[in-house]
Amino acid sequence: MALIVQKFGGTSVGDPERMRAVADHVARTVRRGNQVVVVISAMGKETDDLLRMATEVARVRPGREMDMLITAGERKATALLGMALHDRSVPAASFTGSQAGFITDTTHTNAKIVEVRPTRLRQALEAGQVPVVGGAQGVSTDGDVTFLGRGGSDTTAVAIAHALEADICELYTDVTGVFTTDPRVVADARRIDRISFDELLEMTANGCPKPAMRSVEYARTHGVDLHVRSAFTWEQGTLVTKEDSDMEQAIISAVTHDTEEAKITITGVEDRPGVAGKLFRALAEQQVNVDVIVQNTSAAGHTDISFTVPKEDAVRAGEVTSGLTDEMGASGAVVDDGIARVSVIGAGMKTHPGVAATVFETLAANEINIEMISTSAIRISCVVREAQIEHAVQCLHAAFRLDEGPAYVD
Ligand code: ADP
Ligand code: ASP
Ligand code: MG
Repeated sequence: MALIVQKFGGTSVGDPERMRAVADHVARTVRRGNQVVVVISAMGKETDDLLRMATEVARVRPGREMDMLITAGERKATALLGMALHDRSVPAASFTGSQAGFITDTTHTNAKIVEVRPTRLRQALEAGQVPVVGGAQGVSTDGDVTFLGRGGSDTTAVAIAHALEADICELYTDVTGVFTTDPRVVADARRIDRISFDELLEMTANGCPKPAMRSVEYARTHGVDLHVRSAFTWEQGTLVTKEDSDMEQAIISAVTHDTEEAKITITGVEDRPGVAGKLFRALAEQQVNVDVIVQNTSAAGHTDISFTVPKEDAVRAGEVTSGLTDEMGASGAVVDDGIARVSVIGAGMKTHPGVAATVFETLAANEINIEMISTSAIRISCVVREAQIEHAVQCLHAAFRLDEGPAYVD
């Protein structure tokens, strides 16, 4: 008998028919002799609907009230799935995040988990019930309802799997697993059978929406094995595990893209110690997260610095930067939100030369200009024009023959 956490995303429980299909699957898993804990997202696009409704009702939207509102979506879904399970003679009990023992900090709309005390989930399992837990929610150390942020249900599932020492955490979604690239951009993208936490973390940090990045971090830190799979075909999906020595290292595992960033360039900055420190300290004080940074070699004692920030922070970051131009002896600051970043990810590139050359040659052959480059041990990213991003993804996916299956390091 295994203890399995099964998490279902919004599309997977989008309407009553989907809710019944999910209940059938949970019931099947229980009848095969397993213990199951279910984590569920709000149905369909309900979270978006609730967020929109709030903007239609009020201009001032305190975080505490927003969290009470958003978490209602998941709460509704838990009760409905609980009923559908009873209908199938599977004893079940719904739980809010608070009841499930999720203690968080007091940061509304994006709370962090402080502790998980799954006493009631354990009791329910011992009583032979299937606990159905509302995803992405908890109770703060001040006793208020909190929301863990968009995609937070994945994190709820991983945290429960860790707290209960489950055998596996299954994340059910509307695709059959993690793909070599976004299947909406490349039709012959292939499902990856097995991938390491490190590679998946690079993918999710660089534009792959599934699973939520925080959940992958949590799984990596606590060694929770994941199985990303379809709630529509129920077939075997992608296993996410620690990289082990008998796991062959694919040279390239995936290509991802991110269109959520903007580029800021500050030109003609004086080339002297302390200038970059001043700029990035000022940005940090305004809570702006900076990603790729490039500084040119200086000419006549002056240089340009470019960096990327999330699009939603671009205006604030532009203001901070413009405000410092005089102090930095700079000639000006420009915000450019027409950029996107393409990334090629693979653990095998650590020991396989030539990957960077292939990336740059491929983009050049397709007349795609590279504006910035950044790398990690297992990733190469290029900032290009946003209008060319899909083309960039398609030609890199083809250049590394990802549609044919992985090439491994010798
Ligand atoms: P859920 O609602 O189930 O939590 P999301 O809708 O947030 O899931 O994310 C699933 C979507 O992510 C898929 O429909 C797919 O189009 C998209 N996607 C983008 N890149 C990838 C990738 N590399 N592998 C799998 N899915 C991807
Ligand atoms: N329903 C929330 C969202 O869409 C939380 C989640 O599903 O992970 O972001
Ligand atoms: Mg979705």
